[in-house]
Amino acid sequence: MTWLACELHTHTFHSDGRQSLAELARGAKSLGFDCIALTDHNTMAGLVHTEQVERETGLLIISGMEWTTFFGHMVTIGIKDNLDWRKVGPGDIHAGLAQVHKQGGLAGMAHPFRPGSPMCTGCYWEFEISDWSEIDYIEVWSTTFAPVKKNNIRAYRLWTDKLNEGFRIAATSGRDWHIQEPAGEPLSVTYLQVEEGEAPFTERAIEALSSGRVSVTLGPRLDLEVNVNGKVHQIGDVVSGLDGTEPLAAIQIQADFTVRHEHWHLPEQTFTISLKSNSGVLSEFAALPDDLPLHTEISVQGLLWIRAEMWGVIQGVRTLIAFTNAVYFE
Ligand SMILES: [Zn+2]
Ligand SMILES: [Zn+2]
Repeated sequence: MTWLACELHTHTFHSDGRQSLAELARGAKSLGFDCIALTDHNTMAGLVHTEQVERETGLLIISGMEWTTFFGHMVTIGIKDNLDWRKVGPGDIHAGLAQVHKQGGLAGMAHPFRPGSPMCTGCYWEFEISDWSEIDYIEVWSTTFAPVKKNNIRAYRLWTDKLNEGFRIAATSGRDWHIQEPAGEPLSVTYLQVEEGEAPFTERAIEALSSGRVSVTLGPRLDLEVNVNGKVHQIGDVVSGLDGTEPLAAIQIQADFTVRHEHWHLPEQTFTISLKSNSGVLSEFAALPDDLPLHTEISVQGLLWIRAEMWGVIQGVRTLIAFTNAVYFE
């Protein structure tokens, strides 16, 4: 399996973007991305030249769509047919989710707390979700310099609350990229760990995202490994078969500072690396890049999930810089 740098929320001329798929793909390539998902509003017309653009740019393209309604925007990947948006009411989210899943796709909440009308019609999520197990992912970081923005901090908290309730939901970032202009602010990247092989890329991306093999960052890519009784588990895995008599779990937290390194800048500093769980902070370390990987041991008693976070200073602000998706326990 390989980690690929992805941008999962983009638009072209086919909705309100001001770029073609080819321009978008060339732009993504020059920023060091390996893949994008095209998620135009309520249309998949922009995907018509996917194969040609992939060939010309070397970028991998995930087919997607942003189901854009008055009560919330839902990013999807892997659907084949447009979902209707015109007669959707606030109680209709599960009908929409069922259509996505019936087509073999995945559905995520886009920018759930971005202010809605009149700034951005339907951007604020007002759908009533009765079963959170049907939500595949939450875009917890939206737009540029995402982790410092209040609506993203709320989305990150929502994700944490749902993990605490026992739901296994992935967390992603998305620039909501509409135009080829320099961002001037740190860009977030969603790394997906995909299988190599012949299967169409959209299918391999669906497999990675639905398994939670996801790590999100403004710079270095964080990785987390859990070793219980000699068996190693990775991000997205479920550590099962625990009967309460286990010895401690050995944790390794690693960060790869070489990924896309010419595209981001972090001042020299001591980072805070935090191991979080449903019981709060399990361990915290002050670490220079050379101190990684870090090792610690934890009791698995009462754990539902753990994740790693990296905190530090970027563009003069102390903030969350990177986080892994969860390793689960049962
Ligand atoms: Zn949107
Ligand atoms: Zn969008």
